[in-house]
Amino acid sequence: MTVVDIPKIDADRLRALFPDMLGACRYFDIGSGWMMPVSQLCVALRKLPTGSVQVGELSQKMGGLRVTLEEISLPQEQQTAARHAKIFAEERSRYICEVCGQMGDIRKPPEGVPSAWVYCLCHRHLPRERRGWPIDRRARRYQIGGVPWVYDDLLGRLRVDEQGDA
Ligand SMILES: [Zn+2]
Repeated sequence: MTVVDIPKIDADRLRALFPDMLGACRYFDIGSGWMMPVSQLCVALRKLPTGSVQVGELSQKMGGLRVTLEEISLPQEQQTAARHAKIFAEERSRYICEVCGQMGDIRKPPEGVPSAWVYCLCHRHLPRERRGWPIDRRARRYQIGGVPWVYDDLLGRLRVDEQGDA
């Protein structure tokens, strides 16, 4: 089973662009293709009071971006805004190639294939032996500020989940 070689994101460049958001970030353990969702996250968090929220870790989990936020006593409304920004970035990453930033998909090993590290990759960066693997396109539901949300990958945004329970 091949391990996909993912070039690391440029942590120095990101820190320089968003010192207030990323100055204390301990891990930039993600690929260079996710510059856009991380930058969007930082732009959104920058609207909150300086020093109130920072990114603690950026990592990859189950093929998607995982953001760990560190918040200092944010009022409810701003906590909700921070959580929205985090989940939006994580969801967006699930459709963006971690290598190059083009459109991508997370593929999981089919039944009978030993479990493997999964990635979100475009067709060009997807190793040949993974081309038959099924795409993971589960809609994920979230409670944010007492409201049910679902990420709509066609719209490319979070929308209120009509079927969810508030
Ligand atoms: Zn790619």
